[in-house]
Amino acid sequence: MAHGVVIVGTGQGGFQLAASLRESGFSDPVTLVGDEPGLPYQRPPLSKAFLQGKVDETGLLLRPPSFYERINARVIGGMRVEHIDRAARCVRLTSGMVLPYDHLVLATGATARTLAVSGSDLSGVCVLRGLDDARRIRERLARASAVAVVGAGFIGLELAAVARGMDLPIHVVEATARPLLRALSEPMARHLQDFHESLGTHFHLSSQCDAIEGESGQATGLRLRDGSHIAADLIVVAVGVLPNDRLARDVGLAVSNGIEVDELLLTTDPAISALGDCASFPFALGGGARVRIESVQNAVDQARCIAARLCGQPLPYAKVPWFWSEQGLCRLQMAGLAHPDDRSEIEGDPNSGRFSVLRFRGDQLSAVESLNDPAAHMRARKALAPALAPA
Ligand SMILES: Cc1cc2nc3c(=O)[nH]c(=O)nc-3n(C[C@H](O)[C@H](O)[C@H](O)COP(=O)(O)OP(=O)(O)OC[C@H]3O[C@@H](n4cnc5c(N)ncnc54)[C@H](O)[C@@H]3O)c2cc1C
Repeated sequence: MAHGVVIVGTGQGGFQLAASLRESGFSDPVTLVGDEPGLPYQRPPLSKAFLQGKVDETGLLLRPPSFYERINARVIGGMRVEHIDRAARCVRLTSGMVLPYDHLVLATGATARTLAVSGSDLSGVCVLRGLDDARRIRERLARASAVAVVGAGFIGLELAAVARGMDLPIHVVEATARPLLRALSEPMARHLQDFHESLGTHFHLSSQCDAIEGESGQATGLRLRDGSHIAADLIVVAVGVLPNDRLARDVGLAVSNGIEVDELLLTTDPAISALGDCASFPFALGGGARVRIESVQNAVDQARCIAARLCGQPLPYAKVPWFWSEQGLCRLQMAGLAHPDDRSEIEGDPNSGRFSVLRFRGDQLSAVESLNDPAAHMRARKALAPALAPA
């Protein structure tokens, strides 16, 4: 009897794989196991529309319950996969249940990093990765008197814009000299910083949070390395993520900044694939150097690539990465993958609030960042695609 495909993780990539397998005519069993309760949902609104109360929990669902019945995919929610038995080709869940597989796909995503400082366990200190976290933050935002965010990355800045939209005082503490140092060009990052400052957000750059202070178990603020104190009763730690690679590591699969996969997205075990936030793969546009990308596009396209292979059409993964972020009135879209020291050229007028930054490695276009200009973003995706086409 065919055991079919078992997918560990009911996030963006796990969901897409189940859907794409059926779209491609896969007829063996498809089972999704996720440690979060409920059905697969979208994470991007968690730091945007959901916190603003513009989307409710039903609106977050990727598909309604009837979808999984229709495609005949079994979803086991609220259950962790504890162990993989590679020799017997089965996984063991926390409940003790054992699920055999013909092919296993690790779509385990990532876990928010926390701060190793005193006071991290105080009430009012949150991270933002899953629906539970977002519920907690939404509820706290409604009664907070001041907010501090540690980490000026995308999630930190999206949250800052939401807090200012609610007229809450907000301080953003960032260890490096500017926001989004690794993710964005200097001109675009500076523009966004100016925008946030115009909303009333206070930045503390090149600053370290040394401790979270509190009273009676509740956070009251941050102490920075220079001795200054920031008062806040909601503190969101947004300092990046760690890939969920423990399952793979425990059974000897190659792991380095995520579960290593080849260009077909296979791990070092040909019966196991990995995708999305948990996987590091050879990046065709970057000369084959290994990257791990945290974006919806990457999880979705990698899921489609694996589904095609499992349905008999193996093709190397070669897609232009793209990403978006919404911060107040700023809609940022990125295509490609830049290196921090790639050259930047501005196209358009930043003062108009609509412009792009083109990034170049030597003469080669590596990425395009577009602000409030979806047409420029689509042109960038087209311009970057030929570099990925098979010779
Ligand atoms: C707040 C927030 C905002 C974001 N905004 C954007 C955005 O604007 N644009 C964009 O492109 N991307 C955005 N992202 C990133 C995007 O959501 C992720 O890149 C995407 O969800 C990755 O999909 P995935 O399937 O790899 O992992 P996930 O969606 O994280 O799913 C992994 C699932 O596996 C589960 N899991 C882990 N280990 C086990 C186990 N052992 N057993 C069972 N289940 C397990 C996890 O709990 C999780 O449910 C955002 C992410 C967050 C958190």
